[in-house]
Amino acid sequence: MKYCPMCAAELGTRLEGGRDRVACPSCSYLFFGDFSIGCGGVVIRDGKALLIRRGHEPGRGWWQIPGGYVEHDEVITDAVAREVLEEAGVRAKVIDVLGIRHSVGGAGSIGGPSSNVYVMFRLEPLGGEPVCDGNEVTGAGYFSMEEIAAMDRVQSLSKFGIEWALSGRVGFTPAQAGSDPNRPGWVLYGLPI
Ligand SMILES: [Zn+2]
Repeated sequence: MKYCPMCAAELGTRLEGGRDRVACPSCSYLFFGDFSIGCGGVVIRDGKALLIRRGHEPGRGWWQIPGGYVEHDEVITDAVAREVLEEAGVRAKVIDVLGIRHSVGGAGSIGGPSSNVYVMFRLEPLGGEPVCDGNEVTGAGYFSMEEIAAMDRVQSLSKFGIEWALSGRVGFTPAQAGSDPNRPGWVLYGLPI
């Protein structure tokens, strides 16, 4: 990124919060880095988990739980339900949060390192048999742990989430909702009080 996305001036750096950051010399724009939020859904039906096979790189040919990026104006529980429907054709509803993965590195949207938080949800299927578009997704179906163990190229994170979901443990649920200045419509996920 060479030019300011707000005013198109050439960017420089400014010391802010203890480190040099990319900043605009002519307006208040300050670049804090590249961050993204992802979500994935463990959908269990009759003791079997929903998996999809990736049709595109990275990870083409690998099986994983459905998921993707959260849009900046989208509630995360809507995002995971949307991804499950788009990728596997299954309508599903969020039950709880199984875990949170944080990763630093990889390629950000503007190059350079990226920080990603990925929230893994458990969902209850409401309807629809698994289908795929044959392009972005080249396989979709419900599989038992035995079947998954016999498949090669299954994402390790997905296996972990499925094992966790099938173990019967309880995860974080939307425990509290509220609104604060600059943070309208927040949801706090936690263990029930
Ligand atoms: Zn500017």
